[in-house]
Amino acid sequence: MSTKKMLMSLFSRKGCTCCWKDTEINSYGFCRECFIRLCLLESKPGDDTFHVFRYEGEIRRIISDLKYRRKKYYAQRLAMVLAAYLAERKDTLSFDVIVPVPLHWKKEFSRGFNQSAMISVCLGRILKKKVMLDALAKSKNTISQTALGREDRKRNMSGIFASGRQRIMEKSFVLLVDDVYTTGATALSAKKTLLSAGASTVIILTVAKA
Ligand SMILES: [Zn+2]
Repeated sequence: MSTKKMLMSLFSRKGCTCCWKDTEINSYGFCRECFIRLCLLESKPGDDTFHVFRYEGEIRRIISDLKYRRKKYYAQRLAMVLAAYLAERKDTLSFDVIVPVPLHWKKEFSRGFNQSAMISVCLGRILKKKVMLDALAKSKNTISQTALGREDRKRNMSGIFASGRQRIMEKSFVLLVDDVYTTGATALSAKKTLLSAGASTVIILTVAKA
């Protein structure tokens, strides 16, 4: 399927993201009844890591359906969630490029896609922002540590390295996107890598927090 066709199919479903009833939905994509059952998380001033919902109930089901049952239209719906969240905080949350948290190459190979990349592409489309899919990559652990300099060695240890495109990263304000935040280890390691590749600011935004 071409990228254009894939995106078209993602945008074609109507109704509430949760019950799919063709009823009035809010900017997050949910009807009234479904939205009140979701647990929205608070953010504090000074935060640089944001999560929209608690990872439970229907949100957990939706994310699992996207990841494990290949219901890819949910990528657009979760991007809608992030866009609505950002719109409510546009005075404090500014960025110029979207970067998805990379999936371990083995997982991406077996799943066939990276859900965070799909959400990021849809978000970029909604907000008309640049998305850098290849800014980060997960290490295949094939790079010998001895062949690397001290800084690169540190980066390689984290399991995430900046790709050759990090120059474009310089001085940019990055929105780092992921579906679920569990321990935060991957997201924080990705953030560190982006900062050492020259990004000015990195804000982490995830759909849910476990
Ligand atoms: Zn609903």
